[in-house]
Amino acid sequence: MIEVCELNKQFGAIHAVKDVSFRVEKGDVLGFLGPNGAGKTTTMRMITGYLPPTSGRVSVMGHDVATESLAARSVIGYLPESAPTYGEMTVREFLRFIAEVRGFRGIEREKRVDQVMERCFLTHVQRQTIETLSKGYRQRVGLAQALLHEPRVLIMDEPTDGLDPNQKHIVRNMITDMGREKAIILSTHVLEEVEAICSRVIIIAGGRLVANSTPAELKQQSLYHNAVLLRLTEPRKDAAKQIKALDKVTQVEKIDSHALRIYPEKGEMILPAVLELARNQKWPIASIHAEEGRLDEVFRRLTATQAEEAAA
Ligand code: ATP
Repeated sequence: MIEVCELNKQFGAIHAVKDVSFRVEKGDVLGFLGPNGAGKTTTMRMITGYLPPTSGRVSVMGHDVATESLAARSVIGYLPESAPTYGEMTVREFLRFIAEVRGFRGIEREKRVDQVMERCFLTHVQRQTIETLSKGYRQRVGLAQALLHEPRVLIMDEPTDGLDPNQKHIVRNMITDMGREKAIILSTHVLEEVEAICSRVIIIAGGRLVANSTPAELKQQSLYHNAVLLRLTEPRKDAAKQIKALDKVTQVEKIDSHALRIYPEKGEMILPAVLELARNQKWPIASIHAEEGRLDEVFRRLTATQAEEAAA
């Protein structure tokens, strides 16, 4: 539903986006990650037709965003960063205005506005001016304007930024529900959000794409993938030494007097071997489990070079 081919954007001397290519299918919720200044917003602006690329091409549901701009934009809903709206308008006035811009008139316009307000839990504030709303509500007005024409493709720039945990939960549930029917791209700095709602992840650093996979595959690249966390009810002096001697164990880290983290060679499953040793030695096990891996550590590793270059 979205095809991005060798996209580049240059702002004078700044090469903000470099040869970025990827596809998004129906049912995908794609998390777009990257450090500050990595090029996420710029890429999203090019996908939505808001900014022309220096080179490369974007097609949305078969429409080239540059040459068939209106057709492409009619199937896209876009929630830009900080959900810009017109503060002096009431919620209803603003959504009515957006409905007209989208070509709806009369009863159809009113029906769309009512439906989208209900969907975004805005009906009770419809007569309030937007500037008097809290940030969470303003963000939901932004989401409502992006959804009003029932787009097949939804692009959202940090949709839960600055929201409290309850509001975040509401917006994440809405995204998960919509994800079944649409192709969604959302940018975020919140890695737990990616794990909670995204089916795919793209990481961009210094304008370049450095990862394109599922959250589970990314976690498999973590140094912690299949690391074993062993906690004993009483310490055993030579436990670390004996574990270190096991096949496919690279390192044993002492967390505290009772707990060890055991790192495997290349993500190998070492849990059964550690468990067998612990049982044979009659160590008093309080808990033992293998870790899945950590997205934050993979993210830091994949983006570290670019971050260092930027700092220099
Ligand atoms: P953040 O996570 O902080 O929102 P981002 O990944 O969205 O960052 P972009 O906003 O896309 O990053 O910016 C990428 C680079 O392009 C940055 O170096 C930024 O300063 C530069 N940039 C973006 N827009 C413009 C512009 N209109 N003119 C000049 N430079 C720009």
